[in-house]
Amino acid sequence: MARNRMLFSFLLLFSIVMAACSPKASIVDSPEFDQTQNEFIEELDVEKIHSSLKELTKKPRVAGTNSEIRAAAFLTVQLQSEGYEVEVQPFDFEKYIMPESKSLVVEGFDGSFSPASFQYSVDGNTSGQLVDAGYGLKSDYKKIDVKGKIALVAVDKTAFYELVLLASEAGAKAILLYFPDESESTNWTLGREHFEDFIPALALTYDEGKKLLDFVKKGSPVNATVEIEGARIEKLASQNIIATKKPTKVADVNDDIILIGAHYDSVDKAPGASDNASGTAVVLELARMFKTLPTNKEIRFLFFGAEEEGLHGSKKYVSAMSKDEIKRSSAMFNLDMVGSADAGNLAIQTLDGWDNIVTKAASKANEELNGTSIETTFGDRSDHTPFHNAGIDAALFIYDPVEEWYHTPNDTIEKLSKDRLLNVAKIISSSVFELTFSAIPEE
Ligand SMILES: [Zn+2]
Repeated sequence: MARNRMLFSFLLLFSIVMAACSPKASIVDSPEFDQTQNEFIEELDVEKIHSSLKELTKKPRVAGTNSEIRAAAFLTVQLQSEGYEVEVQPFDFEKYIMPESKSLVVEGFDGSFSPASFQYSVDGNTSGQLVDAGYGLKSDYKKIDVKGKIALVAVDKTAFYELVLLASEAGAKAILLYFPDESESTNWTLGREHFEDFIPALALTYDEGKKLLDFVKKGSPVNATVEIEGARIEKLASQNIIATKKPTKVADVNDDIILIGAHYDSVDKAPGASDNASGTAVVLELARMFKTLPTNKEIRFLFFGAEEEGLHGSKKYVSAMSKDEIKRSSAMFNLDMVGSADAGNLAIQTLDGWDNIVTKAASKANEELNGTSIETTFGDRSDHTPFHNAGIDAALFIYDPVEEWYHTPNDTIEKLSKDRLLNVAKIISSSVFELTFSAIPEE
């Protein structure tokens, strides 16, 4: 008896250990699993993706505007019609509005200027004596008096915002920065952080700056007027749209969460077909597909607002996650620009350039579907970033390099490829299928 009991105990222990260690691997590698997985991804409907795209690309979906709200409403209705309870996560974000006009008038100077403004430059209308302030460093201001005056500064190695702050501390009312070479001084930023402490700042080309410097150096005091109008920071409202599929299998349930996301806003004047109605429409189709599939993990479908203004939607989403949710989130798939016919090959990008759960699952899926693996590269310019920073395995899927008309009115639906959209949909759904052990029969 004793001997038999020992054998029985051993067998019981053996089967428990086997059950704990091996079934996942063996089921996922089995022909039955492959067949169910293949059947599942064959169900993906590219026409559904395309009809979502048609709806989304009727107008630009600029963050904080009614058109973004309309897109959010469309997503909500679509998800609800698939049976999801939809969560709307509202948030505010700041948007810097570039000045409507800016000018520099120099008394007695023969000629005019076309200064450029910096992002986060403040408004102002101020007149005063123009002073050569060298490189605009503390040591420069020890030698000259700029109180109540306008500083003319040559840009060297110091950051723009620091030059503006140093001039302000020295008492200047405005600053003119000119550049040491022919580089164009447009679209440069002072950064948000010190906005409240800035004085009006304008940028001049090397030529303009040199001429102005020569004029100032002639001897007699030179008066100038700097005017910047319409620059401001606005507070705007946006929202994330969230649909959650709970684990629906009885067996092998796991409390991990798989996240699949895409931003649905676009830049101004662009229908944003590639960027990023493409990712949005694919995630919507994945939500439809996974709704009724038994999975052993929770899957969350995330549609982010205000990505183009600084990843605000994804930052908001991650900041609202509890420590426990972050710990349970094992993979985040971010789809951004996944359909352009004229972009490069499909790329998978992570913040450290290293592989993680997401890239490995996707590369394996691509090998099975297309016969090649995809090398993971570095990329940080989309909504996977806050997830990575929170310690979650996250990756961006993008056809890279991106098309030429990225962020222009020419980013239209005609320039998307159904094959490319479907390819990404297949890779992601195959990966998620595998990660959620969807082929294990329900008990
Ligand atoms: Zn984008």
